[in-house]
Amino acid sequence: MPRIHLLSPRLANQIAAGEVVERPASVVKEVLENSLDAGATRVDIEVEAGGSKLIRIRDNGSGMAADDLPLALARHATSKIASLEDLERVGSLGFRGEALASIGSVSRLSLTSNPSEDSSQGSCAACEGREMEVQLKPAPHPRGTTVEVRDLFFNTPARRKFLRTEKTEFSHLEEVVKRLALSRFDVAFSLRHNGRALHNLKSGTGQAERQRRVATVCGPAFMEQALYVETELPALRLWGWVGLPTFSRSQADLQYFFVNGRIIRDRVVAHAVKQAYRDVLYHGRHPAFVLYLELDPAQVDVNVHPTKHEVRFRDGRAVHNFIFSSLHRALAEVRPGDATRPAAVTTAEGLAVDTATGEISRQAGLAWGAPDASPAPAGGFGGYRAPAGPAPGQTREQLRDYGRLHALPEVASEEAPPPLGYALAQLQGVYILAENAAGLVLVDMHAAHERITYERLKRARASEGIRSQPLLVPRAVAVSQREAQLAAEHAALFQGLGMVVDVAGEESLLIRQIPVALRDSDVEQLLRDVLADLIEFGRSDRIESHLDEILSTMACHGSVRANRRLTVPEMNALLRDMEATERAGQCNHGRPTWTQLSLEELDKLFLRGR
Ligand code: ADP
Ligand code: MG
Repeated sequence: MPRIHLLSPRLANQIAAGEVVERPASVVKEVLENSLDAGATRVDIEVEAGGSKLIRIRDNGSGMAADDLPLALARHATSKIASLEDLERVGSLGFRGEALASIGSVSRLSLTSNPSEDSSQGSCAACEGREMEVQLKPAPHPRGTTVEVRDLFFNTPARRKFLRTEKTEFSHLEEVVKRLALSRFDVAFSLRHNGRALHNLKSGTGQAERQRRVATVCGPAFMEQALYVETELPALRLWGWVGLPTFSRSQADLQYFFVNGRIIRDRVVAHAVKQAYRDVLYHGRHPAFVLYLELDPAQVDVNVHPTKHEVRFRDGRAVHNFIFSSLHRALAEVRPGDATRPAAVTTAEGLAVDTATGEISRQAGLAWGAPDASPAPAGGFGGYRAPAGPAPGQTREQLRDYGRLHALPEVASEEAPPPLGYALAQLQGVYILAENAAGLVLVDMHAAHERITYERLKRARASEGIRSQPLLVPRAVAVSQREAQLAAEHAALFQGLGMVVDVAGEESLLIRQIPVALRDSDVEQLLRDVLADLIEFGRSDRIESHLDEILSTMACHGSVRANRRLTVPEMNALLRDMEATERAGQCNHGRPTWTQLSLEELDKLFLRGR
């Protein structure tokens, strides 16, 4: 083995560059973050050849004095933190002091900057990866900084080979700009590629301006089908937009989560969001959201990863709980008649745009999943049956239903019609057509009835409790000591869900009793999964989720089928039930249950100017 020697600064920087500079997009991220840290209110980004030839970013931030420019290019040189305490409550996006040094070691980099409002004279520092020697000269520049990065990886051919096509690199770069644009509504952004202006986002922090930016960045269809949420606890705030379940995506590509203004990817957050959508999302689909979590910086560690995309929460469980319960509530509260329309295919414009671009699934929740959208086997079960009359053993709820089913709607009354209006007719045995104040309502009767039945079954379970039965032969499960302790600590949780789990030894549990509904399930695996969740997230909804799945299947089988004729009173009863039901906008599988076609939209369809 050769003797130990110190690496040259250039080589050390190039090695460090491997961590932060993967591709043009990572350069843009670092340079833009510096502009934001410098208090810029406007940044202009110019890119050539997907960023590998040129990235030029100009800001109107604080700028740097001539003497500081060589320092900015040096490794471990930063103006953002000075002590360990600073690190523990870091408020800036950068703090490691190595981005510019890294970028400079693998490109031709120049910094032109001016810290003064009063003069237009600044300075320029340039370095070329090869030697890392900084040349300093005067240069005109208004207050602020321009960073120019040319010929990325010109001196590291191995890395250059890993670059993809110009188009791919640019789309990564654009994604970085989008994320930062969503993180700072108070900053204006512009982006040009190969001389073409692509984005020009004005600054503004009013609600309308924010919504406009989200619509520009995420697409207008998202904004049209998103709920605004805002919840606050003494030390936590969550706000932003969550896509209605019917606006789900085939990929997790429209998910933005910011913690104190920094975009992050985090298991705790991802799990909490997924759990909140559990009951309303079509299997295999991904929710869309733009969410902002704000908390005391001391409660989150951002120094976990060089790109700072990952964070660690001091109290992950509290954060999980907060996110889950905020979103869960918001999604459950969507009712017919709310300002936001739950199902897709709403505007005539939307339809036109869709067909023109062929992007139907982006706009219309109804377009995907065609095979599944058709109601289950024909000729199957009974329908949405009006109870034949009060019978012994019927619940009060059923009796009330009976009354409602047989009461004709008061069409003539002066009062505004209910949100989903009154039934007009049934189409092809599948859809209910109804008239409400806005125009025409279309309901998928199987999907709607399925959700109603499901929510009713869940309510019944909540009020009557979960029926549970002792096992003839208790099941022994070998676990770790930690898991055994957790099972003992959470005995009440298990019991509440109809499961009795005893500690039989330091590393052994006994399942004594299980919910009747889980008779045919693998309860041992379920128990293990629950314990794993408890360890990682401090909570688990697996048993409920499993029980829900069973109820959901029951609801599906017990719901009205296609090709069953409903009478007008039956249809109206279904509409009224939908209005009173949580999550009525989607069936148990996340398909939309109804949609609205307004009079304006109908008029547009027929080119009828009013
Ligand atoms: P870090 O951002 O972690 O401090 P960088 O290498 O990205 O490290 O930047 C080094 C220093 O250069 C920053 O701390 C900051 O003082 C200065 N700097 C970089 N970009 C700008 C800019 N656009 N405006 C003002 N100062 C900047
Ligand atoms: Mg930086």
